[in-house]
Amino acid sequence: MMKTKNIFNDIISGKIPADIVYQDDLLTAFRDIKPKAPIHILIVPNELIPTCNEVTENNEKLLGHIFTVAAKIARQEGIDKKGYRLIMNCNDHAGQEIYHIHMHLLGGCPLGPMLDLTNKKA
Ligand code: AMP
Repeated sequence: MMKTKNIFNDIISGKIPADIVYQDDLLTAFRDIKPKAPIHILIVPNELIPTCNEVTENNEKLLGHIFTVAAKIARQEGIDKKGYRLIMNCNDHAGQEIYHIHMHLLGGCPLGPMLDLTNKKA
């Protein structure tokens, strides 16, 4: 698990390319390289917070802003009326791959049930 620099830092700074759909002082949003839905955008704080466990009260403005930006991008992408899903994964059980918190914005088709854990054991 990498909890320091990661590929998202390089996308935010422009060092490596990505399909950026939104950027401001606090956040950068770009299309997921392996989309799981017709629209799959990652909304990423410019500042490194490795997982949701490291979020503090100091991040409350930033994390409120992430929802405002998610709604703005959903409108831009034309999926606000039909609907979309916002997901943040934390650590192994959630399948977090990149240790730099990010919100997945997914939409563009019916997304099905949120989770199916029928055959999973604790
Ligand atoms: P998570 O599993 O919540 O950590 O999600 C990480 C996401 O980052 C996955 O959906 C990957 O497809 C996506 N991803 C990894 N590398 C890149 C990249 N270079 N550009 C865009 N998305 C990426």
